[in-house]
Amino acid sequence: MSELHKFLFEGLPVRGMVVRLTDAWTEILRRRAQSSTGAYAPPVQALLGEMVAAGALMQSNIKFHGALILQVYGDGPVKLAVAEVQSDLSLRATATVQGPVADGANLSAMLNIKGQGRCAVTLDPKDRLPGQQPYQGVVPLTDGQDQPLQSLAQALQLYMRQSEQLETTLVLAADDKVAAGLLIQRLPIEGAGNLEAQGEQSVEEQQEHYNRIAMLASSLKREELLTLDVETILRRLFWEEKLQRFMPHAGETAPRFACTCSRERVGRMIQGLGETEAREILAERGAILVDCEFCGAHYRFDTIDTTQLFTTAGDRPPSSSAIQ
Ligand SMILES: [Zn+2]
Repeated sequence: MSELHKFLFEGLPVRGMVVRLTDAWTEILRRRAQSSTGAYAPPVQALLGEMVAAGALMQSNIKFHGALILQVYGDGPVKLAVAEVQSDLSLRATATVQGPVADGANLSAMLNIKGQGRCAVTLDPKDRLPGQQPYQGVVPLTDGQDQPLQSLAQALQLYMRQSEQLETTLVLAADDKVAAGLLIQRLPIEGAGNLEAQGEQSVEEQQEHYNRIAMLASSLKREELLTLDVETILRRLFWEEKLQRFMPHAGETAPRFACTCSRERVGRMIQGLGETEAREILAERGAILVDCEFCGAHYRFDTIDTTQLFTTAGDRPPSSSAIQ
């Protein structure tokens, strides 16, 4: 079963998190394999799994009330990959692939051939007011010296440093059964009260503690992250550290697959096309067919459905509940 564990390093300004997605991840792969596009090539599968794991870690880290949407896009065979995680850790993901992806292709070969690759993190509030824009931060898939980044973890570490000013170490891995990640983050120091709580440590000492823990975290191998259970991972890495553990997200509160698509949303999308274009599609194909790229659900709008979409509320006959 999927699970997410949080912990603090006792007395140190460092926190950590481990996520292991099993059923939540294989459900995404199963639905993709059954769709008309078919299963992902292994490098795309690994990238998308890492995105889902990272998205769950980041959402849980900031506890954002709404959707955290992680996107990578660029100029390679992978046009766009998206992972979306809600505040209850329900999640979905999809990738649009427009060309062949070579075995063993890295981030740069998939998305950043001519340097146009980007990683975007969007926070879309659940109760967004009309006109309110979601917050979005974007980083290039290149480092400070314009060298292409080789992994998603590198891009996200860069994002965290730029947008949140927080030093973060991420280890991510995914295969066809597990998508997993480890996050270690230096806690922000806010005012003297917090400094006091951390005892007599100087800023340099705190940095040394973070560096030591970050180095331990970085020693975690991809294979270990995929095959070991959470307890074994934490014991192997941090057996000399004092960890304060929190109630894990497991069982009913575990990260899980869920899609937020609905007939209403698809209807709004068709309204967005405009009546002329919608009618052209109807004339050509008899109905407007929309498949959800995240879950594979099929939506069909025939002439009557489409006419209803473009009838203003005042022109509509009253619904049955209005008559009662
Ligand atoms: Zn869906």
